[in-house]
Amino acid sequence: MPTLRIHRWLALVAAPALALLADVAVGAPSGASAGPANVLLLTVDTLRADRLSGYGYSRRTSPHIDRLMAAGVRFDQARTVEPLTGPAMTSMLTGLHPHEHGATRNGLPMRPGLPSLARTLDAHGWATAAFVGTWPLRHRLSGLGEHFQTYEEVLTRRRWFGLVRQEANADDVNERALAWLEANAGRRRPFFLWAHYVEPHAPYVFHGEQAARLGLGKGASADKSDRYDTEIAFVDAAIGELLAWLEARPALARSTMVVLTSDHGESLGEHGDWGHGRTLYEPALRIPLGVTWPDRLAPRTVAAPASLRDVAATVLGLLGLPPLPAGRGYDWSGVLEGRRPEPAGRETRHQAHRGAFLGRGDAREARRNGLLAVARLRGGIKEMLLLPSSRRRVFDLRSDPAEQGRAAEPADAATAELAEWLAAVELGLAAAADGPGAQVDAESAEQLRALGYLD
Ligand SMILES: [Zn+2]
Repeated sequence: MPTLRIHRWLALVAAPALALLADVAVGAPSGASAGPANVLLLTVDTLRADRLSGYGYSRRTSPHIDRLMAAGVRFDQARTVEPLTGPAMTSMLTGLHPHEHGATRNGLPMRPGLPSLARTLDAHGWATAAFVGTWPLRHRLSGLGEHFQTYEEVLTRRRWFGLVRQEANADDVNERALAWLEANAGRRRPFFLWAHYVEPHAPYVFHGEQAARLGLGKGASADKSDRYDTEIAFVDAAIGELLAWLEARPALARSTMVVLTSDHGESLGEHGDWGHGRTLYEPALRIPLGVTWPDRLAPRTVAAPASLRDVAATVLGLLGLPPLPAGRGYDWSGVLEGRRPEPAGRETRHQAHRGAFLGRGDAREARRNGLLAVARLRGGIKEMLLLPSSRRRVFDLRSDPAEQGRAAEPADAATAELAEWLAAVELGLAAAADGPGAQVDAESAEQLRALGYLD
């Protein structure tokens, strides 16, 4: 028996949680899967890539996410399309830009009936389920529920016989997701499960146990940035528990592709800004993105820029399923499998809109008049157009990653590509104005406000 086989066998019977994924991925990908693979899609709200230890952060915030990504393909340059939850997650699942799917702001639902990753998998026999732990992803606000066979909003936990309602957290999302996996995983049909965790979204809860592990001391910290880190450590531990469940089932783990990413980043004081949604600077755009599939993908990192919009196309490409209609994200499967070089000169495009539509006024007007900025990025050069002033900002991220750079230039200096991108977005917004109306109830509006979203 070759050494690798013995090693693999040992890993199967004796490896502790998480070591398994790393071990079986050491060998060259077999290229052949026993059958259709499962897909476990994990999204972590508001997670900046550069706050993960695996992306170089000095604190060990994310040991479980790090090990997961080290066992597969990790994108070093992934960005969201729009730094808002509802729009971003809709783009991830449809491959469309926000002005194309119509969910440009939290509270404005996407157009009904659009093709998506979940719908395609459903049509090919997958059991599909989503467990979402944040208000903007409620079906009535996002329209996402119609894409899944099971769509569960894990929003509040009840304690003391239901007398006390608290915000749900990553443990609650896990509890519901694991119950579904227990009932559905390893059955005749492959599964697609999407779990969306709300941490580390504001208000940055302080997690004492994690703070001690990070060397921050046990006393509650007033430092928002430190608290943000303890939130990451908390959600990382929960993800570790979900992965441990998978790895305790070796056959299932080998045939399950795990995708981990975020909806957007977070500004932690850069450019005088806290939060996300209104600017397109790097802290809000950069997200982690990793694809781990022990039987098929050898560990590697990808340097070329990727978009959150590429997730659906890439998963379908890896599974060998028909793609979404043309132009809906880039299929990285050939790169991930080592059949193709990384694409040269890839351009990503981005947009920012007002934070949330809280149900006051006309949803059509809210779509049409919510645009705050557009940006494009190619070859390390990032161009941004701020609206309504039409101030243009240009940064060379290779020499100026903090975007301190050059002074604003007049709008008429905008490159043809940037002007073209703005025109496409504005045209799409005009067309999307006849999209579905908003269904923002009073409780949702209150919760969106509590999350820091302004009308
Ligand atoms: Zn979010």
